[in-house]
Amino acid sequence: MTQGNRGPANPKPDTGKDYSKYFDFSDAKIVKEENGKTTYRIKGRDITINAMPSYKDEKKRGKEEIRVHYENAVPEELRTLGRGKKYLIYTYGCQMNEHDTEVMRGLFEEMGFAPTTERTEADVILLNTCAVRENAEDKVFGELGHLKSLKLEKPELILGVCGCMSQEAAVVGRIMQKHAYVDLIFGTHNIHRLPHLLQEAYFGKEMVVEVWSKEGDIIENLPKKREGLRAWVNIMYGCDKFCTYCIVPYTRGKERSRLPEDVIAEVRELARQGFKEITLLGQNVNAYGKDFTDRNYRFADLMDDIRKIDIPRVRFTTSHPRDFDDRLIEVLAKGGNLVEHIHLPVQSGSSEILKRMSRKYSREHFLDLVRRIREAIPNVVLTTDIIVGFPGETEEQFEETLSLVREVKFASAFTFIYSPREGTPAAEMEDNVPYEVKQKRLERLNALIAELSLESNLQLKGQTVEVLVEGVSKNNPNVLSGRTRSNKLIHFEGPQEWIGQFVKVKVTAPQTWYIRGEAADVPVQAALSHGA
Ligand code: SAM
Ligand code: SF4
Repeated sequence: MTQGNRGPANPKPDTGKDYSKYFDFSDAKIVKEENGKTTYRIKGRDITINAMPSYKDEKKRGKEEIRVHYENAVPEELRTLGRGKKYLIYTYGCQMNEHDTEVMRGLFEEMGFAPTTERTEADVILLNTCAVRENAEDKVFGELGHLKSLKLEKPELILGVCGCMSQEAAVVGRIMQKHAYVDLIFGTHNIHRLPHLLQEAYFGKEMVVEVWSKEGDIIENLPKKREGLRAWVNIMYGCDKFCTYCIVPYTRGKERSRLPEDVIAEVRELARQGFKEITLLGQNVNAYGKDFTDRNYRFADLMDDIRKIDIPRVRFTTSHPRDFDDRLIEVLAKGGNLVEHIHLPVQSGSSEILKRMSRKYSREHFLDLVRRIREAIPNVVLTTDIIVGFPGETEEQFEETLSLVREVKFASAFTFIYSPREGTPAAEMEDNVPYEVKQKRLERLNALIAELSLESNLQLKGQTVEVLVEGVSKNNPNVLSGRTRSNKLIHFEGPQEWIGQFVKVKVTAPQTWYIRGEAADVPVQAALSHGA
């Protein structure tokens, strides 16, 4: 997470777009049917459908066991598919998508592709998309429009769409009808199939659509191309919470945990490779292990085991307040590499709205949880996610959110205007709150968060904090940038050889969204290399 709120996340009113017009396939002809795949001709474009997303199947939560697969995703014969070719991936949305992109980069490079940041040089361009809010989807359709001219100039370019939007039948239908120059659409459960799908797109010349809507298995041993000092580690996939506003349980499948031995082996390997920080990822990490039938091992146990691994900083995201138990608080309070920052999305301060969001906790429960966390970890920094303008939110209910934010003193927050997602229960709820009112509420909330962020940073004035130096400041090459254990952004002067090291920095001038400081000491490694 980056420090600071993201400002207006939804700058224009949601229009409740009607995608049904994209489902008129009356002019589609079946060209071929074999091996369970059907090739249609729609407006002159051949489209092979291996699997279409199904909202009904995405909603299902059956009892069948989750299988873990360890096979290699890139067979020998596809290891030269990308020889002499370049790939580019644009990533939208959350850390989960960032991490999926790392996996796809790993797959591309095992196939012999080289990376590029220049779209005109790329032989394959993928858009790894986000469906959480409508404006994220609009950005993707805008980008697809821009890429059309490139595709027309360079017809051999393979253009693909993957990620959460691909799990929506309406989106796939729209691309098939309106953006027929796209070559490949695949879903969040089909990432490991990328080598085979690329091969089909290259040799078949048809648009290939493969979006499984299953609840999901776990695919281990996928290559990952990570860069920098910090690494994401998935500990679980999917979500079973079904908050009424949220599309994630449909696009990401059922809640399923990776086996602790696989997670721990990956973290050990990252430590060996010299990563300084890991972030454990899941939509609801506190539900980790609930799906194990052969052992009683939960998120607190995993954190307690990872605490013993020699990696300097361990973070996790995202925590659902409902499953945050005392045992986890007890483990986090042991400190060490478990940093004192918790991102704890509250979404609203009104128990009535929380009930309609189906968050399954009340304002009182949340405040009590915060009290217990603060008691055990007095210097903890709390950040959150908040949605304003949920259908029917009254002024009083919004003010309950403001008062909760004030009471908890969140150090920063991601704040959003509610965006209706087709197929979710909240999208059917009556909404009598005008968009302008929602915008004003967001502004009021953002102003309060800014005030609290400054207050939280001011508390550090004069203190010396440990900073992991990540790079040079965007605005001044003589200034280094890094993060404190509590994830606060800090700038200070120092030599570039300190990048990647831990430096003690004295806080001199706290600002609203960042802190200025002065190096209080040379880092340990730098001191050793200079014989100090
Ligand atoms: N699993 C995480 C949790 O429960 O906190 C969050 C995952 S979601 C990708 C990130 C954030 O997006 C949520 O915490 C919520 O604030 C926001 N969000 C999700 N659906 C939304 C919607 N329909 N409109 C506005 N914001 C939404
Ligand atoms: Fe969405 Fe709720 Fe699951 Fe988070 S916990 S991903 S907000 S359904």
